[in-house]
Amino acid sequence: MISPLKNLLANYLKVGTDSSFDNDTNQQLFVSNLFSFIGYMVTFVLAISALVRNNNELAIWLFVSSCVFFFCHHVHRFKQLGDTIKISTRIIFVMLMSLMLFLVYSGGHAQTGPLWIYIVPPVAFFFSGLKIGLINILFFIVVVSLMLFAPNEMFVGTAYSTEFKTRLLYSFVTVTLLFGFYEYSRQKSYEFIRELSDKFEQQAMHDPLTNLPNRRGMREFLDHEYKRSRRSNSPLSVLLVDIDYFKKINDEFLHDGGDFVLEDLSRLFVSSVREQDRVARWGGEEFLFLLPETNSTDAFTLAEKIRLAVEKHDLEFAGRRISVTISIGLNEITPDMNIDQAINLADHYLYEAKKAGRNQTRPVLSSNHADNYEKNTLL
Ligand code: GH3
Ligand code: MG
Ligand code: MG
Repeated sequence: MISPLKNLLANYLKVGTDSSFDNDTNQQLFVSNLFSFIGYMVTFVLAISALVRNNNELAIWLFVSSCVFFFCHHVHRFKQLGDTIKISTRIIFVMLMSLMLFLVYSGGHAQTGPLWIYIVPPVAFFFSGLKIGLINILFFIVVVSLMLFAPNEMFVGTAYSTEFKTRLLYSFVTVTLLFGFYEYSRQKSYEFIRELSDKFEQQAMHDPLTNLPNRRGMREFLDHEYKRSRRSNSPLSVLLVDIDYFKKINDEFLHDGGDFVLEDLSRLFVSSVREQDRVARWGGEEFLFLLPETNSTDAFTLAEKIRLAVEKHDLEFAGRRISVTISIGLNEITPDMNIDQAINLADHYLYEAKKAGRNQTRPVLSSNHADNYEKNTLL
């Protein structure tokens, strides 16, 4: 019995949320719905009670507030209005402040109306954050103080005792400070967690040795560029680069020497391509280049330049020169293949380059039409 009711309420409070929105937005929608739901229920009950007591003025205020809060809950159904979170939170807040000021002015029922003003600090901080929330509350305190302490009860319709007025303000300021401090520490821990999660995400997407994107990080670029090239019908190529006889380098210069070569070549690779190109550490001593707006002929020209640059590269470790060469398999991704098929094909060509004696690029493509690429590359 409880569960269907719970589900019904949960769905009702989720009005406007969407699985395509991020978590924060859906959470904001949920809480603003919760505020307006509680707002219109409470004000509605109080309005009926005021009506029964023949306090018509108070009843009208409460009914109007109830209708406004109800509208704020359902405004998210009208997506054409734009940022409905902003619209509803602003309206809720202005309505709440106005209702509170009316309660201070009129005294509400048996002068207990001002007791409701303690709702203001949590709502203000939740909707506007620490800084703007504090400014709004400060403004509210100034207006309430002017109303309460103006001579001859100029701005209030009822007479409060001086003790009540001062205690009301003192306690309101105390509650504001406590909520402010709570909001401050909440914000700080939120920022801390966010930084931590950004750091973990960066670590998960990058190779710690070379600082290049790893397979997981490269996947995002591959998907993005693949979709873009499909949309704009522009060429897209990949190069699979593998260091030749890397095991020998490790044997001769130990693991540190091997790591040094990987780091150094990574820098050379990154400085050899255009800004829109991406280089990833695809495996142990294997690198994947993603080249947007590049057909196979241009990719071949770039591959050969990189291969020759590595061959001529002066690498020195522990006072000794290390000779390094690379083999490259290249492939232009055509619309009839997916990314994995395209990379597998590049891998197949890399294997052919190895078989043909290493330090080569496969397939061999004419570079007669490569002038355009040459102008664009940084090499
Ligand atoms: P080939 O020309 O056929 O590519 O021969 P190879 O020796 O380069 O290829 P193989 O795949 O047999 O060996 C790759 C070696 O790379 C083996 C592995 O120990 C080494 N390796 C993989 N990752 C790292 C790393 O992070 N640091 C170091 N130093 N070595 C690594
Ligand atoms: Mg190798
Ligand atoms: Mg390899």
